[in-house]
Amino acid sequence: RAYNFNAGPAALPLEVLERAQAEFVDFRESGMSIMEMSHRGAIYESVHNEAQQRLLSLLGNPTGYKVLFTQGGASTQFAMIPLNFLSEGKVGSYVMTGSWADKAYKEAKLVGGVHVAASSEEQKFLKIPELSSIKAADNAAYLHVTSNETIEGTQYAEFPDSGSIPLIGDMSSDILSRAFDVNKFGLIYAGAQKNLGPSGVTVVIAKEELIAESPSHIPTILRYSTHTKNNSLYNTPPSFSVYMVNEVLKWIEEQGGLAGVESKNREKAGLLYEYIDGSDGFYRGVADPGSRSIMNVTFRMQSEDLEKQFVKAAELEGFIGLKGHRSVGGLRASIYNAVPYENVKALADFMKHFRQTQG
Ligand code: PLP
Repeated sequence: RAYNFNAGPAALPLEVLERAQAEFVDFRESGMSIMEMSHRGAIYESVHNEAQQRLLSLLGNPTGYKVLFTQGGASTQFAMIPLNFLSEGKVGSYVMTGSWADKAYKEAKLVGGVHVAASSEEQKFLKIPELSSIKAADNAAYLHVTSNETIEGTQYAEFPDSGSIPLIGDMSSDILSRAFDVNKFGLIYAGAQKNLGPSGVTVVIAKEELIAESPSHIPTILRYSTHTKNNSLYNTPPSFSVYMVNEVLKWIEEQGGLAGVESKNREKAGLLYEYIDGSDGFYRGVADPGSRSIMNVTFRMQSEDLEKQFVKAAELEGFIGLKGHRSVGGLRASIYNAVPYENVKALADFMKHFRQTQG
């Protein structure tokens, strides 16, 4: 297997892929693949419900929350959130932390009123704003945060308190990577393709009161209430992706739940940052140390030319996905839950070796 450091779609646990392979053709002795089954049948529905319950259980079974499976990626949530929550006279307050927060904000602006609750643009988005500087507008329908900026490699250590205003979190690139208090949030969303499974399904975890009713003038499929009332089976769900999410959730349970994956993730990120910081400037961490992501480790070298050589040499050794996002350049190692410690260790050893070859 490759040493896969892709930002997304990303590495999946080998055990999950093997389990899925074993039951790919004949699922639960039905004579069919799960992909070939009706989404209205008992077998698929049991997988669907199991995945929802597992997700809530991993989050500590918070009271009053519901899980939805939607499609169209986190990008569709960028639009659904303002469509569902922005009424006349209300604004969406956004914390501007980088590329993904910016996309969410711009999409909301197409729909209704927006407000910047805090921004780290002046710091080139290399840090998360101080929590005390984050202020939602008085007429905010919600406060939106991007828990982990996949491109810049920054992450909230703690989340702001939004009081009576619902806090909405885009957790696409760090969901289920660490323990956190779900009760702070009104709604959390994430495309599955980094920590939860294959692309195709988007997970929404929300307080039931927020998603029970939606404006009737917006398209049916874009109303949270449509998915809530139909247990995410209003139309054909991405059934294979939901099945895979359920398998990944089982795997997370086997790792000791969120506490288990968090300690492994901190160990992996610690190893890389420690090596980068100790490399006498040969490698340089991009994000401000206090805002560093434990999922996307972004770093640079002395020149773009050297970075190109590094990526090429790494690929020859089986290290995939180390090129930074095209919008910011540099290098990035995405070390989501499924990336084993050994692979991160192999990368640190490769980085050491590459540095030696440069004299
Ligand atoms: N938000 C974050 C933080 C992301 O990292 C991504 C994708 O990389 C997205 C949103 C967009 O997700 P999707 O491709 O599922 O629309």
